[in-house]
Amino acid sequence: MKKEITCIGCPMGCQLSVEMDGGKVVSVSGNTCPRGESYARQECTAPERMVASLMTSCCETPISVRTSRPIPKESVFKCLAEIRATHPKLPVRIGDVLISDVAGTGVSVIATRNLEH
Ligand code: SF4
Repeated sequence: MKKEITCIGCPMGCQLSVEMDGGKVVSVSGNTCPRGESYARQECTAPERMVASLMTSCCETPISVRTSRPIPKESVFKCLAEIRATHPKLPVRIGDVLISDVAGTGVSVIATRNLEH
């Protein structure tokens, strides 16, 4: 089976053809650099996503947050639910860990801006 995907590794957006046999990647073509092959293998076997969202502080101030690294795609919904259910106290600083081990992924949710009271 052949899958066609677009590499998101850089703005070139190379079109990748991925030959699959069952759940395994047999070959990748169309990539201009090695990152494309790595991306294709990851995306076709264990897709991951960065999550960026808004959390609400205990005094209802929106706090922009993101995961510290990509998480498995199937954990995104649970991650967003945990972000919605978390209401930290201010102040928060860029990089503060507001949730550790979000959705059991071992990844943290961190603040992406400074917020005072
Ligand atoms: S294969 Fe390499 S050059 Fe092409 S989009 Fe991906 S990262 Fe960029």
